[in-house]
Amino acid sequence: MSDRPNIPYGRQHITPEDIDAVVRTLTSDFLTQGPMIAKFEEAFAAYIGSRYAVAVANGTAALHLCALALNVAPGQRVITTPITFAASANCVRYCGGTVEFCDIDPSTYLLDIAGVRRTLERSPRGTYSGIIPVDFSGRPVDLRAFRALADEHGLWIIEDACHAPGGFFPSADDGQRCGNGSSAELAIFSFHPVKHIAAGEGGMITTNDEALYRRLLMLRTHGITRDTALFENSPDLAAGAAGQTTYPAWYMEMQELGYNYRLTDFQAALGLSQLSRADAGLVRRRAIAARYAEAFSGSPFIHGHSGSVDGHAYHLYIIEVEDRVGLYNALREKGIFAQVHYVPTHLMPYYRRQGWKEGDLPNAERYYQRCLSLPMYPTLTDEQQLFVIDAVKAYYQ
Ligand SMILES: *Cc1c(COP(=O)(O)O)cnc(C)c1O
Repeated sequence: MSDRPNIPYGRQHITPEDIDAVVRTLTSDFLTQGPMIAKFEEAFAAYIGSRYAVAVANGTAALHLCALALNVAPGQRVITTPITFAASANCVRYCGGTVEFCDIDPSTYLLDIAGVRRTLERSPRGTYSGIIPVDFSGRPVDLRAFRALADEHGLWIIEDACHAPGGFFPSADDGQRCGNGSSAELAIFSFHPVKHIAAGEGGMITTNDEALYRRLLMLRTHGITRDTALFENSPDLAAGAAGQTTYPAWYMEMQELGYNYRLTDFQAALGLSQLSRADAGLVRRRAIAARYAEAFSGSPFIHGHSGSVDGHAYHLYIIEVEDRVGLYNALREKGIFAQVHYVPTHLMPYYRRQGWKEGDLPNAERYYQRCLSLPMYPTLTDEQQLFVIDAVKAYYQ
């Protein structure tokens, strides 16, 4: 072991500007939802190109609110990929729905649209209510193709874009960004420290649909509204006095069962400050990806499809290798903490108990036996990356 600092697979980058932004907010009048939330939402929507954005406590809360807003309920079946963080599927379970995992395309690691089509065509119309495709590793799914398929079968789409802020759809003529709402009803992002934009914890929902936007705002805060135009109770009841024609200023109404999924104002300040560096981070991620791709090209041992992919946001840089356990341990010995993304969700004990088993999704399972995510974050230095590349190559010599 050397005294070289450990190299993780991903890490946040906090600048003095970020710290100033948080401290300024801490000494302002607002700790939880205040003016920074609206600023962050506006700036994020502008960055992504969506009409609306709703800041929430974390990416998982974002998924849960999306499932609620789309009325997921017991008896409904929703399709997603097993190669993602478990939350992509769990949001369906929170609402009592059933998760249908479909296999991945082994050349992109993304939900395979051909498999989704086969699944849909095997069952009567109405069996499934939605699809949750994931821009896994930062690679944009072909959302236009999914939209066409969803329209054929009357389904909604939630795009899980946690890995792809700033990524863009190559098939779109104008390079529209992931989560911009042109092909999905709703999209979600996370601001967990390993993601591109860190807020400690945090999440965002983007959409172009005004009705869904209004519903999400209510669900984020207990299902409560202060909008007099929406009130259901009479002014008399609201005021606690007969003969009233207007609602008193204190009055608010809980109209459905919502949650407290708010983001704090100081987290929004951090997110907003980080957002201003998002494009610079993407440039650096792409450069790191290109260097890995070049270093491993022609190697008979190191495979992968993460090279230079148009629109890829490079949350992860994934290679596929034989003897992955050996490589993983050899890298750890050198202080390089590569990671595996992900244990296929359908093989988690919770989902096994719902009937899923080994062999159900062979592409995902084979991918899981071979995949490894190498260090990928904007502050990874050239020297550190070279150390990683040499360590990987040395293992197979
Ligand atoms: C991180 C992540 C989530 C959940 O986000 P949290 O903010 O950690 O709750 C959901 N989906 C994907 C693909 C993620 O990477």
